[in-house]
Amino acid sequence: MGAIGKIIVSLMPIAPKFLVKRIAGRYVAGSNLESAIDLMKKMSKENTCFTIDVLGEEINDLEEARYFVDEYSRVLDSIVSNQINANISLKPTAFGLLIDKNVALSNIEEILKKAASNDIFVRLDMEDHRVTQETIDVVLEMQEKGFQNIGTVLQGRLFRTKDDIAEISKKLGPISDFRICKGIYLESEEISYTKYQEIVDSTNECIDLMLEMGCYTAIASHDVPIIEHSIEKLHNMNMSVDNDSRDNSFGTRVGKGPGYEFQFLLGVRGNLRRKLASAGHLTRVYVPYGTKWYEYGVRRIRENPDIAWHVTKTIIMPWTNRK
Ligand code: FAD
Repeated sequence: MGAIGKIIVSLMPIAPKFLVKRIAGRYVAGSNLESAIDLMKKMSKENTCFTIDVLGEEINDLEEARYFVDEYSRVLDSIVSNQINANISLKPTAFGLLIDKNVALSNIEEILKKAASNDIFVRLDMEDHRVTQETIDVVLEMQEKGFQNIGTVLQGRLFRTKDDIAEISKKLGPISDFRICKGIYLESEEISYTKYQEIVDSTNECIDLMLEMGCYTAIASHDVPIIEHSIEKLHNMNMSVDNDSRDNSFGTRVGKGPGYEFQFLLGVRGNLRRKLASAGHLTRVYVPYGTKWYEYGVRRIRENPDIAWHVTKTIIMPWTNRK
């Protein structure tokens, strides 16, 4: 799979942009907020909720961060005025984390404050290993300041993740709120698992630990062994969409189920998501939009050639991945 992905990546520079745009159209809501809102309104009948992401990441100067603060502020207004069941996801490096931590903190706080006043949750996406600790620190600092509407993402492939879960949930108790995924960045074998089965096993162990520690657990995977493992674990813990049997459960969180949800990327395995939703589970679709869809998509694919293979498979074998 990796070899095919690498071949596809090597062909990308000669692929015409219009072709890439057509393919990307499945995974990106459009180039502006209005297209994302239209799409979510249409998808609301699928009994799902959303997390909105403005495309873009690591910036070169702090001026660029202003664009993201302003755009996310518009997103929050739009969620409220259109009454969309959505929260937001942002990348800390787009807010300046790798340039000036204090400026990034104040940018993120501006958005967090506005989100809190509208009961909207803010998720910090997790980027590569350079910012793992810094991203966790932002969450802890904001929680210390009294913001409870923030959480981050942890990556099952990293060796450190189980320690992070234990440490964060010890500090925050049942308000700890995680998205758990495999992790898209192919990290080195010094710090991460690199083989498929190891990554699945580790991610499943992280899900178990989060649920056992009483955390809100957003399971972000399209991989059947992870979803099946999660359902079995939820069943064993007597947890369901309207029942969080854990002693220290935090009650109903704004716009969320009692203790868990399943998250999917826009355009990926919609049939599986709809099946989970009709079985009563809370599902959420990650909806990216923005003008930087080309650069963003190309970078993601270069970083992880397996994604190129998934996309190609979707085109040549569409039944494996219904929209
Ligand atoms: P895989 O084995 O990769 O995929 C299982 C199947 O799903 C594939 O066979 C394929 O059919 C389908 N599939 C998966 N991905 C795609 C795709 N892109 N296009 C087409 N088909 C696909 N990673 C981070 O590092 N940081 C984050 O903050 C982060 N946030 C995420 C948020 C959400 C809602 C989701 C769903 C994923 C997120 N990820 C993030 C990415 C994640 O870490 C994985 O890289 C990605 O989900 C692929 O892993 P998988 O568990 O779906 O399993």
